Amino acid sequence: MINLEGQLAIITGGARGIGEGICEVFCKAGATVALWDVLDVGVDTAERISKQGGSIFFQKVDVTSKDSVEIAVSEIIAKYHKIDILINNAGVIRDRSFMKMEQSEWDTVINVNLNSLYTTAKAVLPHMKEAGYGRIVSASSINGFAGAFGQVNYAATKAAVAGFTRALCKETGRFGVTVNAVAPGFIKTNMTDSMPDEVIKAGVAQIPVGRIGTVEDMGFAYLYLASKEAGFISGITLHANGGSMPM
Ligand code: NAD
Repeated sequence: MINLEGQLAIITGGARGIGEGICEVFCKAGATVALWDVLDVGVDTAERISKQGGSIFFQKVDVTSKDSVEIAVSEIIAKYHKIDILINNAGVIRDRSFMKMEQSEWDTVINVNLNSLYTTAKAVLPHMKEAGYGRIVSASSINGFAGAFGQVNYAATKAAVAGFTRALCKETGRFGVTVNAVAPGFIKTNMTDSMPDEVIKAGVAQIPVGRIGTVEDMGFAYLYLASKEAGFISGITLHANGGSMPM
């Protein structure tokens, strides 16, 4: 039933990993996707999905730069006249135990994972308000709730995403904009592919559904919250972790 035909969705960090999975699922659901990333490989990702019949284009955008975000938004508005969906998926890690963590490692993670939400939401909300419709879904993480050794910076941002979501939804509901988050658990990406087999096995042993998550699983979680059908869901963080940490 869920169908994004005729809708314009921005997906940040769409070049690879979970973002690529979200782009693929949203294109299959009929959306036109603006794939934002700092990586030029985003062109190849867009081309691959486009060859499968998806309506998708790449914009080289750094979500930590107000100018970069505003230019990309104005290009979309000039051509499509609206933005229905914003997926704040871009994120980074700079893991190190807190006592050894450099200021630059703290600042980078705060800027990409949290400050970017101020910039992207500020840029798209006036257009959503004018249209009387919008969906904003941002990336939290299981580690924002469970904590993780060496991830004080990362966990702080991912818990903050849940707070951002709960508060912003109170301001935007009256003009038809819902604000939600997805907190992925252990997901198979380039990052997990480089982990030793025994680490993967130990991780999977903690997951009640008995397998690692896929980027497609995440795509469907985002798809639901980005759909018209989820219009009465706002301010939540959807925990997509196979039951490893039920919230
Ligand atoms: P990834 O590193 O594979 O992809 C992240 C993408 O974001 C990359 O393409 C990267 O270039 C892009 N990006 C980074 N900085 C950017 C910037 N300044 N502007 C634009 N794009 C930028 O990571 P992933 O594993 O696919 O994770 C995606 C999101 O999901 C992240 O927010 C991450 O914190 C979250 N998450 C991932 C997992 C997991 O298991 N992989 C678990 C929980 C949460």
